[in-house]
Amino acid sequence: MSTTIDCDIAIIGSGMGGSTLAWALRQSGARVVIVERGGHLPREPENWSPSEVFAESRYKNAESWEDGSTGEPFKPGVHYYVGGNTKVFGACLPRFREEDFGELRHQDGVAPAWPVSYAEMEPYYVAAERLFGVHGTPGGDPTEPWRSADYPYPALEHEPPIAAFAASLAAQGLQPFLMPMGVDRREGGACIQCRTCDGYPCKVDAKSDAEVRALRPALAEGVGLITGAYAVRLISERGRVREVELVRDGEPTTLRAERFVVSCGAVNSAALLMRSGLANSSDLLGRNYMVHNSTFFMAVDPRKRNTVSFQKTLGLNDWYLAGEDTDVPLGNVQMLGKLQGPMLKAARRWLPMPAAKYLGAHSVDLYLTTEDLPERSNHIVADSNGGIRVHWRPNNLEPHRELKRRLTRAVRKAGFPLVFTDRMDISTNSHQCGTAVMGEDPAASVLDVGCRTHDVENLWVVDSACFPSSTALNPALTIAANALRVADRGEITS
Ligand SMILES: Cc1cc2nc3c(=O)[nH]c(=O)nc-3n(C[C@H](O)[C@H](O)[C@H](O)COP(=O)(O)OP(=O)(O)OC[C@H]3O[C@@H](n4cnc5c(N)ncnc54)[C@H](O)[C@@H]3O)c2cc1C
Repeated sequence: MSTTIDCDIAIIGSGMGGSTLAWALRQSGARVVIVERGGHLPREPENWSPSEVFAESRYKNAESWEDGSTGEPFKPGVHYYVGGNTKVFGACLPRFREEDFGELRHQDGVAPAWPVSYAEMEPYYVAAERLFGVHGTPGGDPTEPWRSADYPYPALEHEPPIAAFAASLAAQGLQPFLMPMGVDRREGGACIQCRTCDGYPCKVDAKSDAEVRALRPALAEGVGLITGAYAVRLISERGRVREVELVRDGEPTTLRAERFVVSCGAVNSAALLMRSGLANSSDLLGRNYMVHNSTFFMAVDPRKRNTVSFQKTLGLNDWYLAGEDTDVPLGNVQMLGKLQGPMLKAARRWLPMPAAKYLGAHSVDLYLTTEDLPERSNHIVADSNGGIRVHWRPNNLEPHRELKRRLTRAVRKAGFPLVFTDRMDISTNSHQCGTAVMGEDPAASVLDVGCRTHDVENLWVVDSACFPSSTALNPALTIAANALRVADRGEITS
């Protein structure tokens, strides 16, 4: 039997964008309902099991997508739960750099300027850092943008193995810094700084994910939540969206609202608009798909165990911007959560478990990110049955190789003779963005500066789809800050 629900503002998707927006609108007086295709991720012992999470892919519940160049299916790096991808994220919460909001010249082209400056975004970064309880200490990062307020909590200190690694990088003239993190290490906080954070759900709710930090407080103040409800299409008439067609636990459901916000993650947001036949007068919907060039990097000293528990405290931005050292930006280096035997075995099935365990016990594990550039031809296609095809040819790869070369030299000097790297492929798209860029010109963008679609008066997209460039840093804090900025403009509630 079909059901119809009414509200004022319907938000589709409860990840970083949707939940933060719901939080910002919780006292607006509007009846806000958030729709989520997934359910609640269970809190259970398996949350922290490397073999369950990585070898068995226990929490990977997304459907397969298709690689447009090979026709092969792949499992995307997205997770359909209340809280979205943040339920398993690594909780690194840096701001983008001031320069990232302007035009930046790269090896393969130019990263376009955003229609919003860093100065306009800055107060919302402050608010997002408070909402997500970010731990950070300013002063160590050479590319750090100015800030109008301190971080809410001081940075997490390095454990001894990472302190020693930082010292050896510093002795080479590099400037490692303490990475801003969203975990609950305030006095009495729930975080125990374990090894099972990055890529794992948090069993003790100590990670600053969108559900814990934004959605739950919003629900407590009257925001509604419908789970297990897949948004099939938006139905419009006379230039306005009237309702969203949902399939909820197999049953058709209609949600009517005055205003609609799509926050499904960059690919799924574009796919929903495509299925609805909306917001594409620019022919840019689904195009400019970016994901970052990224590499997992293991530096191994077979003679020395890495006894670290929480590894993700260090960042390195010495080559983030062009300067004396490099003609073009190379990117960011940060730590991965500690890699462990079962995780390595899951990635390289042929590796005997004892070897995987030995490597994991003796490695320092890093994550390299280089900006990729928006291109029309990198695009997604959605079919009416919910299928998604991704056409992706990575660009700006030479700076990424150079970043890897420089880091390899640095870790060898720091005493790690062995280096193993793995460049992420089409399936590691957890930093996806750009599929509905914001801008002032309706011919050159899908969304206006307030993330409202140029074409449809009562339709917004509030997630990383709006990013004009991918930068080379983790996106979640910027997604949250942007959601707060959009809410503050008042157009969604006026
Ligand atoms: C392993 C991992 C580690 C990461 N680490 C970091 C990190 O350290 N720092 C960082 O900044 N970022 C990190 N990220 C990325 C970060 O999680 C994402 O950038 C962020 O969650 C994106 O927010 P979003 O709102 O755009 O989308 P999401 O968080 O993906 O939320 C989208 C939501 O929409 C729902 N949805 C989708 N389609 C529909 C539909 N048709 N109907 C109803 N609901 C729908 C989904 O189920 C989901 O809940 C990581 C991601 C992963 C997977």
